[in-house]
Amino acid sequence: MRYYDKLIFELSRKGRTAFTLPRNPYGAASLPDKLSRKSSLDLPEVSEVDVVRHYTNLSQMNFGVDTGFYPLGSCTMKYNPKINEEVASMPGFMALHPLQPASTVQGALEVIWNLGKSLAEITGMSRFTFGPCAGAHGELTGLMIMRQYHMKRGDLARTKVIVPDSAHGTNPASAAVCGLQVVVVKSNERGLVDVEDLKPLLGPDVAGIMMTNPNTLGLFEREIKEIAALVHGCGGLLYYDGANMNPLLGIVRPGDMGFDIMHLNLHKTFSTPHGGGGPGSGPVGVRKGLEAYLPVPKVVRKEDGSFDVVRDDEDSAGEVSGFLGNFGIILRAYAYVLMLGKQNLRRAGQLATLNANYIKESLKDAYKLPIPSVCKHEFVFDGLIDNGERKDAQGNVIRQGARTLDVAKRLLDFGFHAPTIYFPLLFHEALMIEPTETESKETIDAFIDVMHKIAKEAEEDPAKLSGAPHSTPISRPDETRAAREPKLKYE
Ligand SMILES: *Cc1c(COP(=O)(O)O)cnc(C)c1O
Repeated sequence: MRYYDKLIFELSRKGRTAFTLPRNPYGAASLPDKLSRKSSLDLPEVSEVDVVRHYTNLSQMNFGVDTGFYPLGSCTMKYNPKINEEVASMPGFMALHPLQPASTVQGALEVIWNLGKSLAEITGMSRFTFGPCAGAHGELTGLMIMRQYHMKRGDLARTKVIVPDSAHGTNPASAAVCGLQVVVVKSNERGLVDVEDLKPLLGPDVAGIMMTNPNTLGLFEREIKEIAALVHGCGGLLYYDGANMNPLLGIVRPGDMGFDIMHLNLHKTFSTPHGGGGPGSGPVGVRKGLEAYLPVPKVVRKEDGSFDVVRDDEDSAGEVSGFLGNFGIILRAYAYVLMLGKQNLRRAGQLATLNANYIKESLKDAYKLPIPSVCKHEFVFDGLIDNGERKDAQGNVIRQGARTLDVAKRLLDFGFHAPTIYFPLLFHEALMIEPTETESKETIDAFIDVMHKIAKEAEEDPAKLSGAPHSTPISRPDETRAAREPKLKYE
């Protein structure tokens, strides 16, 4: 153990401080007895340099996109331009209070209004709400709108939602939370929704279908027009899970594909650091004719051009959050859209697609590629490397090769974060790679090189993989216990 791997409590020495306060000319204020502390706070007593080293070392024990390539799939964990952080921390925005009257926050309301307009143009929807604070929250909101639409028409029999077997787990979960029944539609051998499997599921009890396009395998659902016609034909609506919108920016619009309701993950596609469970923003958009069902509060533009917030609306599907949304994230997205503009948003999607296909083609000889077609911004290997069995000197049978988990762990030794593993559930050893548009060819080539090296190790020295990572502060925790019984306390 290095000296600075010690806890800050262990570095503590009585009386040592990192600050000096000016002499207090006023004397001590007295607090009511019931409010004052009875024993002293148990804080570490250290010098300034110890504090700085403590936090700097802590920041380097974890892996982040600021320190290395992060090919995690289904996330668009991109490098986000730092200027967006600056915009989000401008005092005029940061010091706002969510309960301020509309007349005093006209600038903030204008930002929300304008971003809504931009997203509507990008997606082919009519109006957006920014209430939902995550993609999953957006799904729930969208399904509430779908249910409200059917209920307002007096059509109470529509209780089923169709979800592809390739869907993100939040899709069926949101449907269940919304009180709807989930029906699964299968994928075909090309990894796309099987239209023949879909047809018999459609009927007067179907509220709608939830789809991700490109889907979680990174494949564009080519038959989306036919699917839309079939679902609309039975009276259902189409919900678009926009988590994979990145490669379609400026190229295809969900509204033009036939979708009625959708969410975007601003923290995936429109620049916000995304990790540790938040912060997030999952704005929901609806096509023309469904605007009335959007949740309250709603931002509206008045005749004189000023903005107001409407809090009651009898057609609305209800309230999904107390205020207008996660405003710091809205600001980052607004800055990002304005900074890139139409042409460069399109280019971001094209580069993300090019980078993913380049990696896929460069590695498909070393890793099993179950669906070999052109992908969008991400793709999935079935990561098992199976080199059969051999007998060692004592006659014991040794399986040769590596599992996806081993490949992912070994990448850390080379300074790359692991891709997403064991998702989607369609393949047992799924390994999902999403490079994003921000990485240089040199970085991507270095990653490809390392992946080749690891495939070779699986053949020649499998123990090196099953024991990896060898260079991180912690090697292989018991993943279940680390999640279920984390030890977060100093003992
Ligand atoms: C990330 C993701 C979601 C859920 O979004 P959160 O913001 O994490 O709630 C839903 N669907 C897909 C395809 C995703 O990748």
